[in-house]
Amino acid sequence: MRRLRIGILDLVTKSPNPSLYGRIMNANLASIMPQVIGVWCEQEGHDVTLVCYTGLENLLEELPKDLDVLFVGAFTQSALLAYAVSNLFRRTGTVTVLGGPHARCYPEDARKYFDYVLGFTDRSVVAEMLRDCQPHRPYGAHLSAASQPLELPTLRERWKFTEAVLTKAPTIKIVPMIGSLGCPYSCAFCIDSTVEYQPLGFESLRDDLAFLLTKMKNPIVGWHDPNFGVRFDDYMGAVEAAVPPGRMRHIAESSLSLLAEPHLKRLKANGFRAILPGIESWFDLGNKSKTRLTGMDKVRQVADHVNMILRYIPYIQTNFVLGLDGDRGPEPFELTKTFIDLAPGAFPAYSLLSAFGRAAPLNLEYQRTGRVLPFPFHFLNNNHAMNVRPKNYGWPEFYDGLVDVTRHSFSLRAIAKRIPATATAIPKWMNVVRAMSSEGWGRIRYHTTIRKLLDTDASVRAYMDGETTVLPEFYVNRIRQELGSMYQHLPEGAMYHDPNAYLATVGDQADPVSIGGRGKRKAS
Ligand code: SF4
Repeated sequence: MRRLRIGILDLVTKSPNPSLYGRIMNANLASIMPQVIGVWCEQEGHDVTLVCYTGLENLLEELPKDLDVLFVGAFTQSALLAYAVSNLFRRTGTVTVLGGPHARCYPEDARKYFDYVLGFTDRSVVAEMLRDCQPHRPYGAHLSAASQPLELPTLRERWKFTEAVLTKAPTIKIVPMIGSLGCPYSCAFCIDSTVEYQPLGFESLRDDLAFLLTKMKNPIVGWHDPNFGVRFDDYMGAVEAAVPPGRMRHIAESSLSLLAEPHLKRLKANGFRAILPGIESWFDLGNKSKTRLTGMDKVRQVADHVNMILRYIPYIQTNFVLGLDGDRGPEPFELTKTFIDLAPGAFPAYSLLSAFGRAAPLNLEYQRTGRVLPFPFHFLNNNHAMNVRPKNYGWPEFYDGLVDVTRHSFSLRAIAKRIPATATAIPKWMNVVRAMSSEGWGRIRYHTTIRKLLDTDASVRAYMDGETTVLPEFYVNRIRQELGSMYQHLPEGAMYHDPNAYLATVGDQADPVSIGGRGKRKAS
């Protein structure tokens, strides 16, 4: 097989010119899988150029022009940018491949714009794709392994890619690592709920941590595990065996149920500096925080728990989902405001209820009941649009509550209270920058604009009420502005997709065609 020139593009953002916070942090949001694919491609004997797009680069200057193959890794919010890039490269003969969350959530749509769309991806899927390597048009081949890979290349093996990406992080540099895939919990809205929990090997984790200490002084590790600490003792054992006290800092996403005080003591001793638990709702989704309480009782219990966490871990981001079916009236918003007051040190991150195609079993239910709106992918980042019509709210009422809770969370008073409630300098600074940047004040401005449009622009209201699928000018203009020079390369039809494609294909899940004959799915 001839040696291929392979490009790998990791899209961590959807458009040029990121916010202040994005400029500091985007390079730290790089995904692990593009680096893994880079290692596998080199092991197959090919030349690889990996580009992590943080919104500051000129994309087309960074990528070589004469590629045989271009892999793009994208979340759904970056799908239109990914489609435009693919369109451009296909014109000059490059074979394009899409992987990552968008490929898993919307394979039917992505196949229109890529030659290959990857689901679960292991080394043999990549090797088979490279052997086949040819244009598949008008519909790309859909390849998937039967499950997530059983092992991934080590940090040592992907270091040259990791190191290159980190040169783009101007101050804080976070090394992406992963020790497990899937999750044993079954939150019906989550993409990881249907992936069996699988640790990736604590011995190689130990080796990687020891390796990292030879490369960086006092590094920060960002754990990409969907739910860190499920095998808590094994994890901590690996960290303690490889890292002398005080030599490494860690950030992880973990459920509240795993963050009891004995665990927190050990996390603190091992340098864990930031933790991101999901609270989700005061009335819904209690299974992962293992509480039966709801309403104000839950607010008090969770606030106490979060304040206790802050005695051990200096930075905590609490994740909420707004607009869930268990919520109605002003109470959920008022309870969240009370929580902000009771746990002033926590940074709240809000997600609007969103259904990302095939991501989660619950999406079938939303599609069956006709509640999923066809908002272009560009807006599906949990904030710029809510693509599920809320069950118990009209849009104006919902947006009133959303604007109110966002204003309360990022008011000067809340920002000021967060400073003394946070113990150390970097978390204090992060909280202020985030609140004043796109995640705080930027969201207040955006949600307020949408709230006004609901009263003043009949096309926006009709679209959000599901009365028309014609995209309002407001959204068309935003896509045009945000994609900048890449807008001209957007393939025809890319702004529209079938929001019920998952439901429509549920009946034909059992017809995989393999190009290599070993259980890969190929839907072309
Ligand atoms: S606990 Fe977190 S990672 Fe696990 S299924 Fe629930 S939301 Fe997903």
